[in-house]
Amino acid sequence: MDFNKISSPFDCLLFDLDDTLYPSGLGIAQACKRNIEEFLVRKFGVGEERATFLRAEYFRSYGSTLAGLLALGHDVHPDEYHSFVHGRLPYENIRPDPKLRQLLLSTPQTKIMFTNSDRKHAKKVLEKLGIEEEIFECIICFETLNPHLFKTNNSSTEVILKPSLSAVEVAIRLAGSDPHHTLFLDDSERNIAAGKALGLRTVLVGKRVKTNEADYLVDGMFNLKAMIPEIWGQKKKNANANEEHDSIVMRIELDSIRPTTTIEA
Ligand SMILES: [Mg+2]
Repeated sequence: MDFNKISSPFDCLLFDLDDTLYPSGLGIAQACKRNIEEFLVRKFGVGEERATFLRAEYFRSYGSTLAGLLALGHDVHPDEYHSFVHGRLPYENIRPDPKLRQLLLSTPQTKIMFTNSDRKHAKKVLEKLGIEEEIFECIICFETLNPHLFKTNNSSTEVILKPSLSAVEVAIRLAGSDPHHTLFLDDSERNIAAGKALGLRTVLVGKRVKTNEADYLVDGMFNLKAMIPEIWGQKKKNANANEEHDSIVMRIELDSIRPTTTIEA
């Protein structure tokens, strides 16, 4: 009998895409920011400095630049925005990752992608990573979260994206699994906090400091198995060693605070 084998506490894995399934150092996010600013310069004729300010301001106040533009009544179609912002990203920096593919295939859970990006970008990144879209049960993306923005007689300009609770609710509903048995992996502390607020189990990816809302912290997908073997129904390799060490430390500490008895007593 394998005493290291446990049943996995997770039925479903919910993966963010950008800076989660590939490392943050590839320059994609930086290029995306530059493209957003250039979009503001070209479309609205603002100066470069103003564009940088607006991008940051819209992100802070509305969650994204597109959300800010639509909320303020600007006539921008999501497809126009995404094709400009994602159209010239350095996708060539994303290299095939057969180890990640194998890792994903080895997980017994249903896998769902949950990204704020549009579907075209998600497909392009998966293609560059060499990962079949079919590995994921479904891709929850900008279009899934915002079907109203693609209707001709639409009156709502609200953009639903992580970290809004509405976005996480959509993901939980589509995943169809108990949030307490769903593991949500994302590189954004804000997204992780939103997931935790709705009962998801959470993994903060690629950061050095674990936040209160993160149940786990991993450097990247490459050390997922070492850090969260529970996904595969396994115990942490050094868990027993740690428990033994902790009990020795506790015994020593207890011994040190026990009153000593004198020989004469
Ligand atoms: Mg991300």
